[in-house]
Amino acid sequence: MTVAGWEREIAAAQAITTYELDGVAYARIRYGGEAEDWGAASGRPCHDCGVRPGQYHVPSCDAERCPRCLRQAISCGCADGDFDDDDDDDELDDGALDDGALDDGALDDGALDDGALN
Ligand SMILES: [Zn+2]
Ligand SMILES: [Zn+2]
Repeated sequence: MTVAGWEREIAAAQAITTYELDGVAYARIRYGGEAEDWGAASGRPCHDCGVRPGQYHVPSCDAERCPRCLRQAISCGCADGDFDDDDDDDELDDGALDDGALDDGALDDGALDDGALN
């Protein structure tokens, strides 16, 4: 792609001010508005899509944050309707397994009883 062609991509990206995710319009995060500093603070263009500080990233830029979950927009899955609630459920399952480990502790008490008999 020519540089002139990419400049048109950047210009077109400035017209996209929101992402509609799960039926809700979220205001996009401009380059420099991220929690991380990707170089905007020192005035450098975005390392991936080349926009200048204060501009919107070109969609598919790997530095753009998702306005819904604030993670990497191209990998967070919000646009696919693939939300992360499932991950939270997995963590709860792990906690249940830890309760099983406490049951092992109860078995240790039984071992102490054997010692008392001796
Ligand atoms: Zn970018
Ligand atoms: Zn997201």
